[in-house]
Amino acid sequence: MNDIFKLADDLGPLKVIHVHEPGIGLKGALVVDNVARGPSVGGVRMTADVTTEECARLARAMTFKNAAADLQHGGGKTVLMGDPKMPKEQKETLIRGFCCALREVEQYIFAPDMGTDEECMGWIRDEIGRVVGLPRELGGIPLDEIGATGFGLSHAVDVAQDFCDLKIKGARIVVQGFGAVGKHATKFLCEAGAIPVAISDSTGTIHNPDGLDVDALIASKSAGKSVTEYVPGERLDGDAIIDIECDIWIPAARPDVIHEGNVNRLNTKLIVQGANIPITYAAEKALHQKGILNVPDFIANAGGVICAATEYQGAGEAAAFTAIEEKLRRNTREVLQTALQDQIMPRDAALAMARRRVEQAMSYRRWHIF
Ligand code: NAD
Repeated sequence: MNDIFKLADDLGPLKVIHVHEPGIGLKGALVVDNVARGPSVGGVRMTADVTTEECARLARAMTFKNAAADLQHGGGKTVLMGDPKMPKEQKETLIRGFCCALREVEQYIFAPDMGTDEECMGWIRDEIGRVVGLPRELGGIPLDEIGATGFGLSHAVDVAQDFCDLKIKGARIVVQGFGAVGKHATKFLCEAGAIPVAISDSTGTIHNPDGLDVDALIASKSAGKSVTEYVPGERLDGDAIIDIECDIWIPAARPDVIHEGNVNRLNTKLIVQGANIPITYAAEKALHQKGILNVPDFIANAGGVICAATEYQGAGEAAAFTAIEEKLRRNTREVLQTALQDQIMPRDAALAMARRRVEQAMSYRRWHIF
């Protein structure tokens, strides 16, 4: 009992539920962190090794992310023990069993995360109905296919340009990671006049100071090739992406890629974070002190969660794009303005904004958290 309450503070978690069904080898947990703003949304993470504590941390991150995106949703998360690459039949049995066990917990809406995908969400829909991230045939909005997060990120850049004395038109951009987020962010920024001078994927970096052809790169990537097979351009190793001088640097690959050991190599004016936690807090602080503006991950990459919330309301792609544009622009401006006024890091301003929104919602509740 005490162990569980070690996780508790004034925001949550509201509920921690462990699920065990030896008949099918099911072990999992649900943490509903806070539902003051509405039913919680957060992904089902399937992995062989995960703790309830980690689940609680991820649920809290969703409370802040949903509030920062200004969605009428609280934060929650589920973890399911198992190798996500197990035979499909076995995985389906586990996921169907897991959501059935949580059928009554209406304060939590299932969503995809590491180890689960839209097909898994389809099974959940079939069992209990309460889910986002569905296949298109079931009313889902395929957010990676339409580029929801990259689209939102391009609007964050558009707002941020006023805060760091640069213009997107003609700005040199460098993008680390050329998957769903990186590809679409580059495409939308190119449409606004930016020039991609370097792009990397897991195999290396391609660099051309005269600009890279984004359509050719996307076509090449879709054909299963690496960005480094693109010509004309200089092929470099993956790490070289950090050193290339540019106006806007976009991490869209992995966590913790910029840390105290390499942060001084960055030579840019603006960083807009597509990946989750791509920069350690200490490195972000160092960048702030050097006057390099950062739009933090949970502000800049909120396009995906906004898209999922739109799907949950039963609306379509056009409504998702409208909501992403409106919310990304408003939230980015509010965060950067507060950061400027109070002379604090944008991340701290964003966290304070999210906490304030959750606390305001809590103030209308008899029981505060729920
Ligand atoms: P993805 O799997 O589609 O693409 C990842 C890309 O990063 C690939 O091009 C891969 O080759 C590249 N990559 C991997 N390791 C790399 C490395 N060391 N250096 C350079 N490139 C590397 O993933 P995604 O959906 O684009 O997500 C990227 C990041 O954004 C992740 O951190 C994810 O959590 C985060 N994110 C994604 C979304 C979304 O809507 N997809 C939303 C919010 C946050």
